[in-house]
Amino acid sequence: YYNDNTILYINGEFRKASATTTDLYGQSLHYGYAVFEGIRAYKTANGEVKVFKAKEHFDRLQRSCELIHIPYKFNNEELIAACYKVLELNNMEEAYIRPLVFCPPNMTLKAASEAHILICAWEWGAYLGEKLLRVMTSSYERPNPKAFKIESKSAGLYVNSILASQEAKEKGYDEALLLDINGYVAEGPGANIFFEKNGKIFTPPPGNILPGITRATVIELCHELNIPIEEKLFTTDELKEAEAAFFCGTAAEVIGIDSLDGQSFSKPWAQSLGKVLQQAYKARVLEKSFQREAQLV
Ligand code: PMP
Repeated sequence: YYNDNTILYINGEFRKASATTTDLYGQSLHYGYAVFEGIRAYKTANGEVKVFKAKEHFDRLQRSCELIHIPYKFNNEELIAACYKVLELNNMEEAYIRPLVFCPPNMTLKAASEAHILICAWEWGAYLGEKLLRVMTSSYERPNPKAFKIESKSAGLYVNSILASQEAKEKGYDEALLLDINGYVAEGPGANIFFEKNGKIFTPPPGNILPGITRATVIELCHELNIPIEEKLFTTDELKEAEAAFFCGTAAEVIGIDSLDGQSFSKPWAQSLGKVLQQAYKARVLEKSFQREAQLV
């Protein structure tokens, strides 16, 4: 992720990653009490580097902090400018950008009264790869919304994601699918889920998921491309009856699912609406125009 020349941004300064330290008595390190974002920058069709949905990501970072009482005294426009500067200082064009808000030394369970911000970046290919995914229903549920502010992209929540991913890998699958506390399909460890049935796209509503920024972009693309889209609760039984399915997230982008619990989806990915949306998403991040009709031939 970094080498001796890597530069990061910390509390208003640009510094060498290898020469920057943090306190071992921090509340974030001990209790997972921190908030982060995952953003991507792309080299767009006209050659310019653009941080995709930068405002949406920093607005979510702010809201994530507010939800768990981490003070947010940062200016989002300055932070977005810092992202561009980090890319420039590291000679990066396409990169994954990771802002992290973390708390100073404090061993109590009191909410923080101060916070630090770090922004680093590294080159990262498609997080879940390019191949269709073999997915398993996890034995882990997503965290109970009554036990946590699940719409806050908080560090501690990701232990649940690590457990689910690890279980899937150990059982020979590529990725996990987690249910919510009521037994409905929620999301992957780091991505939202969609499925296709009878010419229509479905995805779980907010409530028991992290409502992803990529999810919002996919919904926006469905509207633009006249693909009917509905948010509704569904079970794995219903999902297994679907024609096709995909995950989406900033790191994973749009990635097709081959099978759930060993049962393949009936439609070839290349003919699915997910494939159309995958191409439309790629075009959107690169600021290229996209015509759905051109994809049907
Ligand atoms: N759900 C979870 C649990 C995630 O970690 C992510 C990745 N941030 C997503 C969904 C997708 O969110 P986004 O599209 O904003 O990256």
